Amino acid sequence: MTVSWTQHRFSGGVLALDAANTVVLRGDPERSFDRFEYAAELPRFAAAATRFRAAELGARQLAVSDAEAILPTVLAIRETTDRLFRNAVRQGGVATVDVPEFLRACGDGLAGHDEHFGAPEKPFGDPGKPLALEVALAVSALSLMTADNLRRLRICPNCRWLFIDRSRNSSRLWCDMAVCGNRQKAKRHYRRQREEVSYV
Ligand SMILES: [Zn+2]
Repeated sequence: MTVSWTQHRFSGGVLALDAANTVVLRGDPERSFDRFEYAAELPRFAAAATRFRAAELGARQLAVSDAEAILPTVLAIRETTDRLFRNAVRQGGVATVDVPEFLRACGDGLAGHDEHFGAPEKPFGDPGKPLALEVALAVSALSLMTADNLRRLRICPNCRWLFIDRSRNSSRLWCDMAVCGNRQKAKRHYRRQREEVSYV
């Protein structure tokens, strides 16, 4: 079954976390699943990310030339990104042991490409030409390594996705209030009703 790449699936705040969040319910062997199980999802993810991450990507269009060929690199960036930043939230800082593999995976994503990043008007390079997905993932992941981003990193208590909390008072609890926030509210409501019933 193909994945429907809705806006909710881009709740991470940055492309690298959206990619990390393509594994749902990490750490739960019975319920966890991988939306990148098939390489054919990469171009579909890239097309949706072009739209939902247009601001971060400086309106560059993401491209996948050979999905099967780049899948191992994409998965290595995704897994090392998730491990490093998930541990950073849990442990209150980046663990040096998580960094070498992360940098190697990002290096593999960048190797062999000729791009320029960080210009004020062109954060991801020339918007006139397409950008390889693995390059965009690597740059997005490396860009997370700032004190401000690390301070705003969160793990959604409902679905375990990673996200950046950009709310003014840093009080966002859910990756997506409309989805995970409401599910938790519904659960609480259901529990309350059951408790009431048990007293009748
Ligand atoms: Zn969530």
